[in-house]
Amino acid sequence: SAKNNGRDTYRVFEPMLMETIKRRRSLEAALRRACMRDEFTIVYQPVFSSLNDEITAAEALLRWTCPDHGEIPPSEFIPIAEELGLVSRIGADVLRQACKDAAGWPDHIDLAVNVSPVQLLDPRLPQMVAQALADSGLAPERLELEITETALLNNDEAALRTLTQIRKLGVSISLDDFGTGYSSLSYLHRFPISRIKIDKSFIQRVPGDSGSVSIVRAITQLGSSLNMQITAEGIETESQLAFIREQGCDHVQGFLTGRPIASADFLARTGKRVVVNA
Ligand code: C2E
Ligand code: MG
Ligand code: MG
Ligand code: MG
Repeated sequence: SAKNNGRDTYRVFEPMLMETIKRRRSLEAALRRACMRDEFTIVYQPVFSSLNDEITAAEALLRWTCPDHGEIPPSEFIPIAEELGLVSRIGADVLRQACKDAAGWPDHIDLAVNVSPVQLLDPRLPQMVAQALADSGLAPERLELEITETALLNNDEAALRTLTQIRKLGVSISLDDFGTGYSSLSYLHRFPISRIKIDKSFIQRVPGDSGSVSIVRAITQLGSSLNMQITAEGIETESQLAFIREQGCDHVQGFLTGRPIASADFLARTGKRVVVNA
């Protein structure tokens, strides 16, 4: 009967739920400890110009190796850090370290740093950014902060104030994962955004999927008519790269052209061009 099925389902799922909760509790405790130790590293994914194939920037991506659970992806630990109120502190450390690393790269190479929606609500963010720039000596024009549409959704007044202050420092703002959130086009001109990063879920379906082809074309045209730069992220194949080049996206980023690597390895690559022959 349905009643029995319900009971069986309950019996099957309860242990899984318990495991999930136990892992979550354990990760929470580990993340609190990680903040005091040195368990975080930053890797850098190269960004290429689609015009001349040269490296123009790198995106800083945070890595956490937990002593108990091994490597935990940011998609898992960032939301936990947000809930525990740790994300501003972690984010400030990332900013400080990434600016320091980037200050050792050639001057024409920019740095992109992700900012969580929770971090964007911290009124101290502009001061943290200014401090990271001052301590590292990195020129503000070389720094881009990546935010997502969700960050703008419910707190647009506060976000606008913070982003305007950051923009005044000379730092630019990119809209990450574009197309997956609520994509209100009004964000694009209300906020001081100078770059759109097309989400990898669309990039990975071109050129085969006609819906994704249309979306990538539309975003690229929209961006260029608003005088914004466009990055296509998540490029894994030569046919995706060829398609993206035809569309006139300014920059490309993906496993095909370069995986995230340590700062020293990135520095060694900065003189080199993209290695694929698409
Ligand atoms: P994101 O900002 O959109 O970063 C791009 C993600 O796509 C990275 O995953 C990168 O490794 C991955 N990626 C790049 N090229 C490809 C590709 O060709 N194929 C595939 N399948 N993936 C590719 P990662 O490092 O796991 O980061 C995931 C997300 O976690 C980031 O997405 C960002 O939202 C967040 N994150 C990472 N580092 C930080 C950080 O320092 N602070 C904050 N607040 N969030 C971070
Ligand atoms: Mg990003
Ligand atoms: Mg710039
Ligand atoms: Mg993204």
